[in-house]
Amino acid sequence: MQFSNTPSRDVVSCKSCSCVQFSPVSGQCVRCGQSLGIRYCNIDLKELTKANSSNADDSLRMAVGAALRVMRTRRGLTQAALARQLGIVGRSQLSRIESGHVLPPLHIFLLIATWLGAESVTVKFRDSPP
Ligand SMILES: [Zn+2]
Repeated sequence: MQFSNTPSRDVVSCKSCSCVQFSPVSGQCVRCGQSLGIRYCNIDLKELTKANSSNADDSLRMAVGAALRVMRTRRGLTQAALARQLGIVGRSQLSRIESGHVLPPLHIFLLIATWLGAESVTVKFRDSPP
């Protein structure tokens, strides 16, 4: 799993000056220079499926947990504070998810990610030759 400022030609809007632009490599608005404050989390499916199946399960839980932990800490929230605000997952459950012991159901993962500022989930795929 990788975090980056600019994985793709995503179109973003600057919150300071409203300039709509392709996500710049610098992570800063091309017009006003303010940080766009956008980061992307990339979970590489090829890496996940390369391992044997039990390792792949471990890798997926670790990747999902690490992604949520990074997003939470960037917001300056403790697990307890996040759990309180979410109201659907307890602090100990959140801890087990973040440490990769438990894989949350997809709808719970998406709720938490949305609450932590995720705006979209992108599935990037490449057509196979016919
Ligand atoms: Zn701007």
